[in-house]
Amino acid sequence: MTLLKHDQKPEAAGRRIAVLSVHTSPLAAPGGRETGGMNVYVRELSRELGARGYTVDVYTRRASAQAPETQPIGPNARVINIAAGPAEMIEKDAIAAHLPEFEDRVSAFAAREGLAYDIVHSHYWMSGAVGAPLADRWGARHVAMFHTLGEVKNRARITEHETALRIDAERAIAASADAIVVASEHERQLLASLYGVDSGRVSVVPCGVDLDLFTPMDKEVARRRLRLRDGERIILFVGRIEPLKGIDVLIGAAAQLHDDENFRVLIVGGDSRTAAEVAQLRSLAARLGVDHHIAFVGAVAHEDLPLYYNAADVCVVPSYYESFGMVAVESMACGTPVVASRVGGLASTVRDGETGYLISWRCPEPFAERLELLLGNDELRASFGRAAREAVERFRWANVADAVSSLYARLLEGPAACVNAIPADLRRTPL
Ligand code: UDP
Repeated sequence: MTLLKHDQKPEAAGRRIAVLSVHTSPLAAPGGRETGGMNVYVRELSRELGARGYTVDVYTRRASAQAPETQPIGPNARVINIAAGPAEMIEKDAIAAHLPEFEDRVSAFAAREGLAYDIVHSHYWMSGAVGAPLADRWGARHVAMFHTLGEVKNRARITEHETALRIDAERAIAASADAIVVASEHERQLLASLYGVDSGRVSVVPCGVDLDLFTPMDKEVARRRLRLRDGERIILFVGRIEPLKGIDVLIGAAAQLHDDENFRVLIVGGDSRTAAEVAQLRSLAARLGVDHHIAFVGAVAHEDLPLYYNAADVCVVPSYYESFGMVAVESMACGTPVVASRVGGLASTVRDGETGYLISWRCPEPFAERLELLLGNDELRASFGRAAREAVERFRWANVADAVSSLYARLLEGPAACVNAIPADLRRTPL
């Protein structure tokens, strides 16, 4: 009998997983325009799978000349930086043109190291577009996770214009992958209704939260460490600064709060690439006369975020769409109630009237009304906060890794569900 180390699982032994995260590295700091939940997800899941005994290689596009070819991220897990296009940050849309080169270089790297993989796990459509042919080449099963879907973004907000190219690629990936992982039941339904995907191939695995990092602490201590003013109510937003996040709705809601209210809205997230978006939001705040209540904090290191969640009285997630919404779960893990849009995964993570409030309309008034209610009632906030921490205990990363690991085991037991048939023109034409 082989003795397995503490966390190791028999189904993982000798199994190699190629994780594809083409457009953004799991090591990139979240909170930029294009770095957020997916980066955290890929990093945490890869670490957990590595600890279980899988060998995990995460392939990403090299976005800095200083990035070494390989970087360890945990036991049995490493990031491999693949040169495809300029070694610098480039627009996400521009990355699509380098996908064929990326695919070839990944294949060459694996051949050079004599690697073959059992599973290719791709994240976001660009990774799916190269994941399908790579899985074919290695005789591996292809597991796709979209994180966001073009059709859904386009429908969620009129200003979003996801290209037909992306949507066609998503359709091809969805039709060909052996399995698709989604973070909520709602996303499974969307894949069925908008992409015609047979739900039997779709596994619902909610995202995770680090319950040791995101944990309740003394609010006053957190506030002092952040040098926040005594007695001020804190309303928190955390996330990528992009239109889909609905920060305009939050600013509109702030403008509806009583002017004599002593409150501050902290907006965490953003980098040099989001300056234009921030400028627009600032001018909206100025037009509405609430700029003195709003502070743009910029991106905060993931490890420092617990201070912000703990310092806050309430966290607002006013997104037009959210496939899962890790921020809401992190806030609840710190015992801070959430006021969120009733969209996507948020509708199943936030319990309306128990751990926060869900708002069915993407307009400021109902958000303001719920904020007034919570900010004015210390007891209510405290009881929501306690319930919130309890409600998110089930979202630990170990549970995510267990679910993904059993999916891998199921796929590797049986025959491939279907042939990975991404049309050749989609694979080879610069997208
Ligand atoms: N985040 C962070 N620092 C920031 C802003 C965001 O670490 O300044 C992290 C946040 O803790 C969460 C992730 O980025 O883990 C955002 O995930 P979410 O699912 O809420 O949104 P997504 O980016 O997937 O749209």
